[in-house]
Amino acid sequence: MNQKNTFNLFSKRNNCRLCESKDVQLVVPLNPTPVAEKYLLKKDLSKENIVCPLDLYICNDCGHVQLLDIVEPNFLYSDYTYSSGTSKGLVKHFESYANSILENYKPIKNSLILDIGSNDGTLLKFFKNKGLRVLGVDPAEEIANKATKEGIETIPKFFNLTLSEEILQKYGSPKIITANNAFAHMDNLDEIMKGIHMLMDKSSIFVFEVSYLLDVVEKVLLGTIFHEHHSYHSVTPLNIFFNKFDMEIIHLERNTIQGGSLIGVVQFQDGMYKKDESVDKILEIEKKSNITKPETLKKFSENLNHSKNQINKLLNSLLINNKTIAGFGAARSGTTLISQMEIAKFIDFIVDDNKFKQGKYSPAGQIIVKPTEYIYEAKPDYLIILAWVHSKNIIKNHQKYLDQGGSFIVCFPELKVINNSNMNDL
Ligand SMILES: [Zn+2]
Repeated sequence: MNQKNTFNLFSKRNNCRLCESKDVQLVVPLNPTPVAEKYLLKKDLSKENIVCPLDLYICNDCGHVQLLDIVEPNFLYSDYTYSSGTSKGLVKHFESYANSILENYKPIKNSLILDIGSNDGTLLKFFKNKGLRVLGVDPAEEIANKATKEGIETIPKFFNLTLSEEILQKYGSPKIITANNAFAHMDNLDEIMKGIHMLMDKSSIFVFEVSYLLDVVEKVLLGTIFHEHHSYHSVTPLNIFFNKFDMEIIHLERNTIQGGSLIGVVQFQDGMYKKDESVDKILEIEKKSNITKPETLKKFSENLNHSKNQINKLLNSLLINNKTIAGFGAARSGTTLISQMEIAKFIDFIVDDNKFKQGKYSPAGQIIVKPTEYIYEAKPDYLIILAWVHSKNIIKNHQKYLDQGGSFIVCFPELKVINNSNMNDL
């Protein structure tokens, strides 16, 4: 397979995304990787495979961990198929997330809720059902237009300063602005924050949810590292960042969704809500764990290399013994896992429930994606779980595969082979 770096499809910034310091240091070097969500059609297999750098840097001034190589957004989000409504766990999470915001901040009826990176409108639906006005912004055109058709008005654009002016004029000031994961997806956070600030007043709040760096490092969530995620947020640098805009974090909570996320609520420094104790508590945890120090990230990088050696050793020995191996889950995390662990050569096929991916080929390693039931036909000896934050559910749902003598391989946080005799070890 030919791999080629296509330079006009990505660029590199030379400073920290949050504090603009140029004192940035490479801490987790990773293999250049294809864009994680771009599953390929058969006719595209002969084309050169575009890979982009995926290295993690830390800012020595504010401690923010980030990618500095930026994939051109129009390329990254064209044919974007990721849809939050397809994940039952995420839908449930959004419901409780919306309910808890409504309970704690009690917006009056008809208040405007703006969701940046609203995807298919899954979160906004819960606000709309409670009698609030809702507006979404999402650059994935197809998904945005579909949401609008289904009653969640969604502007199919990237959120920026110009768009916030337009929103303010046409819709007024939102009482609540949410950004779920979008906050990790954006390169120009300074401009985004200026836009959000412009839309807010003393009574508004901004609520963000990001995958949490502490969880990424502690639980080895390698699969959350892909090109859409420009930032791997922790609170210490974010706190400095929000202060720059005369804003403050007033509440934080950790969640187990997608392996580990952090929800933060932000307001103007002279805003109407009281800051609670959760903020200092989490800042203290971050200090103790040294999460904003280069050494911690370098240790994480060493752990990844150790895992890679172990996984390759295991898969090699299976192959020598003529065992067949397939992959479970054509998620974005799979692209990172296959590329970083360099395991494409061991995997015969991947299975996934997502019909849009079936019949296509994985961006990393160009492995065919089959429907999940295919495991009962092909009966591979081993299934390596590529979407491993869902390992427990996947194994639970496929007891039949274990009963037929199959084994699952779970790579993280520790490498484990699960079969019918040791299922409870997971
Ligand atoms: Zn910085």
